[in-house]
Amino acid sequence: MVAVSDVVVVGGGPVGLYLAGALAEAGIEVLVLERKQKIGQGVLCTGIIGQEAFDKFQLPQASIEGSIQQVELISPAGEIISYIHPHSFAYVVNRTVFDRLLAARAQALGVEIITGFEVVEIWKSNRFVQIKGKRRGFPDRVYQAKICVLATGNSFRFHHQLGLGLPQEFVFGGQVELPEREKQRPRLWFGKALAPGGFAWQIPQKKKLKVGLLSTTDTRPYLERILRKYYPQVKEQPFSADIAQKAIAQGIVTPSFRERVLAVGEAAGQVKTTTGGGIFYGLLGAEIAEGVIKKALLTSSFRGNFFGLYEKEWRRRLEREIRLGLIMRKFYSLLDDEDVSRLFDIARDNGVFPLVQQKGNFDWHSQLILSLIRHLARHPRRLPPIFHISREIWKKAKHIPYQKREGSPEATTKIN
Ligand SMILES: Cc1cc2nc3c(=O)[nH]c(=O)nc-3n(C[C@H](O)[C@H](O)[C@H](O)COP(=O)(O)OP(=O)(O)OC[C@H]3O[C@@H](n4cnc5c(N)ncnc54)[C@H](O)[C@@H]3O)c2cc1C
Repeated sequence: MVAVSDVVVVGGGPVGLYLAGALAEAGIEVLVLERKQKIGQGVLCTGIIGQEAFDKFQLPQASIEGSIQQVELISPAGEIISYIHPHSFAYVVNRTVFDRLLAARAQALGVEIITGFEVVEIWKSNRFVQIKGKRRGFPDRVYQAKICVLATGNSFRFHHQLGLGLPQEFVFGGQVELPEREKQRPRLWFGKALAPGGFAWQIPQKKKLKVGLLSTTDTRPYLERILRKYYPQVKEQPFSADIAQKAIAQGIVTPSFRERVLAVGEAAGQVKTTTGGGIFYGLLGAEIAEGVIKKALLTSSFRGNFFGLYEKEWRRRLEREIRLGLIMRKFYSLLDDEDVSRLFDIARDNGVFPLVQQKGNFDWHSQLILSLIRHLARHPRRLPPIFHISREIWKKAKHIPYQKREGSPEATTKIN
């Protein structure tokens, strides 16, 4: 007879592992199935996590390899604005170490993790979810669970068949690691020619430099250009082959639940649409899923409408950020390099940075976005022409449902 777990989590990334640990801590029997041979193997991520998130979720301190307080913003014309925050606002973690420490914590709490096991099929029988997969050197195996959680990151292969939604779109994130020759500062480059619809970055991390790019198109030719232009040490090498690239889901995935099944993390679109960062929103989603799963098991409520509580709550907390971020990124992708340079001029001259210090929050961007729009609207003559034809965007932003969230600066935002 096949043993039945309370919960099977498909995907041993940070969100699945965190959720598994939290459930096991409450005495729930959890099995994590991960297709990679080792947790954290070959992860592509810059590893920036806001300090607030770190504290809230008591994330593994031993994975921290740096922190960020200052960042240089570089316009398409090459102008540099140096932004210094009053205190450091984010950590840079080693993602492999981070994931492995989350796994170790989950295991210590009683979670079973099977690596090298790729789930290939999921279906529901009367009282259970059946999860079939394969592992090299072993016959195919089916696991049974009362509840199945999809924490599969940017893989949506089971969503359609299980009746879950799909993300609105994808962007691409590409990155390489270089040896850090001399002390460098975090840097962000902007401009269509450099990173269409996105931005590029340099993040120092323990004698390494992560150089990456977010874009609506293949990042590799753009990243290669940046490497050749700004990093003489790599001039001679053909780089595209070394650039790792991954699609990042953008937009709410709904429904993110069905009877006995729910999706968390990137698999539910719980990702910042401004930057592509997904760890914090994914952990928030996991925290909400944890509460609903515990109740479901306690009361034997496995119907779809019960798990609907999960989606209702996570959308209440994240939807506004995700939708507003997406609109803003789309608008940004319409700007040409001249427009972006003009915005840099306004930013330098007109008190934008005090506003960032006051309203900016590493994880919650909507209040800052709305404040910046209002601020820019006070300088209509200096704005690029595109702003004058984009009233529609502002109108759309106004219609995003607003939910008060205690403890977040956004709670004080009003949309007029
Ligand atoms: C270049 C780049 C830089 C980034 N930088 C940051 C950053 O600085 N900060 C930040 O917050 N986010 C960043 N992100 C995004 C971040 O990496 C993701 O949002 C985050 O990893 C999502 O976590 P997750 O647990 O939901 O999914 P994942 O970390 O993707 O984990 C999903 C896991 O599921 C497994 N899996 C999938 N399908 C199956 C299957 N069929 N069977 C078994 N296992 C399966 C996968 O192997 C994987 O291990 C970056 C992304 C990119 C591409």
